[in-house]
Amino acid sequence: MIVWWLRHDRRLNDNECWNYLRDASIQTGTEAVALFAWNGLKTATGLGGIPRLSPKRRSWISGSLDSLRAELEPLGVKLVETDGSAVDWLTQCAADEVVFSRSVAFDERREEEAVRAAIPKTASFWTHSLWSPMNIPGGLNHLPPTFTPFRHRAEREHTEFNLAPLAITAKHSPQHPSESIPFSPSEADALARLRAYFSQPEGARQYKTRRNGLLGTEFSTKFSIWLASGALSPKRVWQECLALEAQLGGSADVEWIRVELLWREYFQWVAYTAGSRLFSQKGFRDAAPQTGFHAQAFQRWVDGTTGDDFVDAGMRELAATGFSSNRARQNLASYLIHDMGLDWRYGAAYFESQLLDYDPASNWANWAYIAGVGTDPRPIRRFNTVKQANDYDPEGAFRNYWLR
Ligand SMILES: Cc1cc2nc3c(=O)[nH]c(=O)nc-3n(C[C@H](O)[C@H](O)[C@H](O)COP(=O)(O)OP(=O)(O)OC[C@H]3O[C@@H](n4cnc5c(N)ncnc54)[C@H](O)[C@@H]3O)c2cc1C
Repeated sequence: MIVWWLRHDRRLNDNECWNYLRDASIQTGTEAVALFAWNGLKTATGLGGIPRLSPKRRSWISGSLDSLRAELEPLGVKLVETDGSAVDWLTQCAADEVVFSRSVAFDERREEEAVRAAIPKTASFWTHSLWSPMNIPGGLNHLPPTFTPFRHRAEREHTEFNLAPLAITAKHSPQHPSESIPFSPSEADALARLRAYFSQPEGARQYKTRRNGLLGTEFSTKFSIWLASGALSPKRVWQECLALEAQLGGSADVEWIRVELLWREYFQWVAYTAGSRLFSQKGFRDAAPQTGFHAQAFQRWVDGTTGDDFVDAGMRELAATGFSSNRARQNLASYLIHDMGLDWRYGAAYFESQLLDYDPASNWANWAYIAGVGTDPRPIRRFNTVKQANDYDPEGAFRNYWLR
C-alpha cells in the first residue's frame, strides 16, 4: 500500500505529492490511500488549557477532508482519517511507502522524522511554500534577521513558476458586504475565489489600496484560509499575480499581494530556523518580556468585553467566524500584550484554536513580532487601538456590526 499522508497540501492541482501517489500507484499496481491523522488534536489542549481546535476550526478541517474525499473516490483513492498519529496508523497498516509534504514547524518536523524511521520508503516535497531550503533566495543559512533584506533578495531573483494552466470549472464565488468568510474549505471554492479575485475590477487590482479594510469579503484576498490547508498553492497565487501584472503593464496593487506572500514565506523560514524557540516566551531575545498571565483579564479579551470597542469587536468577529483581518489581528495582539500586560503565547494559543487559516509559522512568528521578541527591528510594536479605530473604522461600521 502506498499512502499520501495529508498535511497542509489538501489539493489535487499543483501538488507533487498527489502526482507522485497517482504515478507510483499506476506504475506498481499498488493500492493508493490518502491518510489524515488528527494526532489527538480533537481533544488536545495547549497552554492555559486552551483547546488546540475550536469546534469551528475542527469542522473547517473536516469540511476540507470531505471535499477532498469526494474528489478522490472517483479516482479510486480512499481517504481515511485516524484520531491518532500518522506513524501509528502507518505502522499498524504496514504501509510500503509514504509520500508527504514537508513542514517548517518544530513538532511537524518531528512527526516527519518518526514516519521516516518507521516506514521502509518515503518521498517528500515542499508544497506549502514558494521555495525550499535548497533554492531559497540567498540560501537558508543566510536568512536575514529582518524581513526587508529578505524581500529585496527575493525580488532580485524575478521568480516565476511554470505551472500548467488550471482546468477550473467556472463556479460562482460569493461576495459579502460584512462577513469575511462565506466560503467553503474545498479546493473548488479556493480556485473559484482565485479566479474571481483576479478578474473582477475591485479585487486584486485594488489590493494595496483596500487591504487595510475590516468588513466583508473584498478588501483582501482571503486566500489564507486555503493556503493554510493547502487547498491553494502559494506558487499558483504568485503566478496569477505575475500574469495580471503583465496584462496590466505593471500594477503596484497586484504586486503588493506578492509582497504579502513574501511575508508568509519569510515567516516559514524563520520558523524553520528557529525550531522550538518560536514558541518560547523570550523568542529570539535573551530575556522574556515583563508580562504574565491573569485568567480573568485573558477571559475578558477572549469574550470581547475589555471595554475597548475596537478590540471587543475584533474578538467577537474572531469567535463568530474563525477569521480576522490583518489590521484587526495586529490590534488584538498588541492590546493583549502591551495594554493588558499578558504573556503573548496565550494569545497565540487562542488564535491557534480559533483561526480557520491557522498556520504555525505565520501565527507564532506574527505574535512574536508584535511582542517584540521576533524579527521586528523595533523593540516594541504597540498599536494605539483608539487611533487605529479612528483611522480604519472612522464611521464605526466594523464596531457597530460586531457589537450589535
Ligand atoms: C497576530 C497575528 C496572527 C496571524 N496568524 C496567522 C495565521 O495563523 N495564518 C495566516 O495565514 N496568517 C496569519 N497572520 C497574517 C495575516 O493576518 C493573514 O495572513 C491575513 O489577514 C489573511 O487574510 P487574507 O488572505 O485576506 O490576506 P491578504 O491581505 O489578502 O494577503 C495575501 C496573503 O499574504 C499572506 N500574508 C499577508 N500578511 C501576512 C503576514 N503578516 N504574515 C504572514 N503571511 C501574510 C497570507 O498568506 C495571505 O493570504 C497573522 C497576523 C497577525 C498579526
